[in-house]
Amino acid sequence: MRILISADMEGATGVTWTDDVVPGTPQWQRFRHLFTGDVNATIAGLHTGGANDVLVNEAHSSQRNLLLEELDARVRMLTGRHKPLSMMQGIDSGVDGVVFVGYHAGAGADGVLAHTYLENQITGVWLDGVPASEGRLNAALAAEYGVPVLMVTGDDKTCEDARDYAPDAIGVAVKECVSRYAAICTPPERTMTSLRLAAERAMERAGRYEPRRAPHRIDVEFDATHLAQAAAVVPTVEQTAVRRVGFDAPDMTGAMKAFKVVTAIAAGAVQGIYG
Ligand SMILES: [Zn+2]
Repeated sequence: MRILISADMEGATGVTWTDDVVPGTPQWQRFRHLFTGDVNATIAGLHTGGANDVLVNEAHSSQRNLLLEELDARVRMLTGRHKPLSMMQGIDSGVDGVVFVGYHAGAGADGVLAHTYLENQITGVWLDGVPASEGRLNAALAAEYGVPVLMVTGDDKTCEDARDYAPDAIGVAVKECVSRYAAICTPPERTMTSLRLAAERAMERAGRYEPRRAPHRIDVEFDATHLAQAAAVVPTVEQTAVRRVGFDAPDMTGAMKAFKVVTAIAAGAVQGIYG
């Protein structure tokens, strides 16, 4: 069974603060070990449950966070940036299941380090009119390839969100959100056991499902007008309100590629303190 792990960092065990996830900081160096621990516990459970080909795709920031030297020897890891499908690179119609490790709530929602792609300039994203986290967007992409979301890990708000977009996936809350920068955390010794057992159970749903290819619409709201103006330069993208853009795409793969361009252009237009 082939499984793809999309590994983000904000939802990892113990992470609650900007420095915990910003490359180069001492705290980030510390949390790379805990993050790798979450991924390894998940891998162990997946293998016990029948997986024999696991690809781990790095999905956070520069996408160079996991420690290869500490990673379970049975897997392969896709590390580094500039991948067409970004957080979901590695998805194809031969994958039997995807696991979202270390995920978080979406822009504008309650949750530890909640955001969608850009850390704070995007105030909301909607997929076909529904508020969308990265998990919801990536689950729709997986559905297009007939790949089920088997398990989602992060804080309790992440699991709540996943119950709506992937109701059959197993949610594992490694911490309880108190605020965007605070959580009641469980030590890794316990979260790793929970992750391992859940991943083993999650494998029961692994397998091929009917691909659901359909047109999709994505709307994005920014915290400043010029970011919407900058994003609206992208072909097919229209400015729909003073801080909003939207676009239609024939399928989710196309929608996610356009969304990646929109976020890159907007990020490039951010101006120092005024944003
Ligand atoms: Zn993320």
